Amino acid sequence: VPEGHTIHRLAGRIQQLFVGQTWRVSSPQGPFTAGAARLTDRTPNRAVAWGKHLIVHLGADIWHVHLGLYGSFGFRGDDAFVTSDALGELRPVGRVKEPAYDDAGWIIPDEPRGAVRARIHVPGGWGDLRGPVKCRVLNPIQYEALVGRLGPDPLRQPTGEIDPQMLRTFRDNLARRRISIAAALMDQAVIAGVGNVYRAEALFVERINPDTPSQQLDAGQTNALWTTITDQLRTGVREGSIRTLRPTDSELGLRGSDLHRHHEGRPGRAAESLRSHWVYRHHDTPCLRCGQTILMRELQGRRLYWCPGCQKR
Ligand SMILES: [Zn+2]
Repeated sequence: VPEGHTIHRLAGRIQQLFVGQTWRVSSPQGPFTAGAARLTDRTPNRAVAWGKHLIVHLGADIWHVHLGLYGSFGFRGDDAFVTSDALGELRPVGRVKEPAYDDAGWIIPDEPRGAVRARIHVPGGWGDLRGPVKCRVLNPIQYEALVGRLGPDPLRQPTGEIDPQMLRTFRDNLARRRISIAAALMDQAVIAGVGNVYRAEALFVERINPDTPSQQLDAGQTNALWTTITDQLRTGVREGSIRTLRPTDSELGLRGSDLHRHHEGRPGRAAESLRSHWVYRHHDTPCLRCGQTILMRELQGRRLYWCPGCQKR
């Protein structure tokens, strides 16, 4: 499931591979034909992410994509196109071995496979969007309405900094909600970009019980939660995956013998590398920090993981 870090990486990739070049846009599957006609043969100015929303600006037209649970982008292109992508570890841009070019010097893309909602194409390569929940062109008023509904996105803070205004907005949003902190973190109007994994891991790290009413968090807890989520999301952007449990975590050392035992004799280092999360998907196993059994239950249709030993009210 894409969380905010995935969309920020995607925006960075589209910025590198497409922005500043005239592109062709089509909708092989069909539903986006009218939108594609508005965007094609133009030059995208900027690609950014806001929470889980991908936004590509083309003057007064704004392409808005939300991948939802099943949406994905795939990219292919020639050597120069592949090389210009700096984020390629996880889902690399596919290299076309023997590219063919049309008379205008544009690479000839593969036949669309499956339901390609939108295809974006520049001379060196192309990207295919499949299965999004949102793929549409907004005008500036619609765009303002969209981002006006979103809470602060920690990844929109200046690099390496905590933005006090965004932190204040997060705190105000929590104070106004009559819901648990676990529900609040999934509400994109409270904070944008957090999904199921970051929710579970951040609450665990800060020892906050997921059922605590969001109004009851004190300023210290709110600040710490924002900072932890910021760190986790930034790491996710850097590494391309959600890894919230680090081999260097000092607390891990305290439970090192347990970790070793639970992985049945594998060397500790290898065992650590197998495990990326403290609690997410580790229910019914002992907590690495306190030894109590990690729990799981459904909350609003999504699975919630927490440790009853560390995360008391
Ligand atoms: Zn615990």
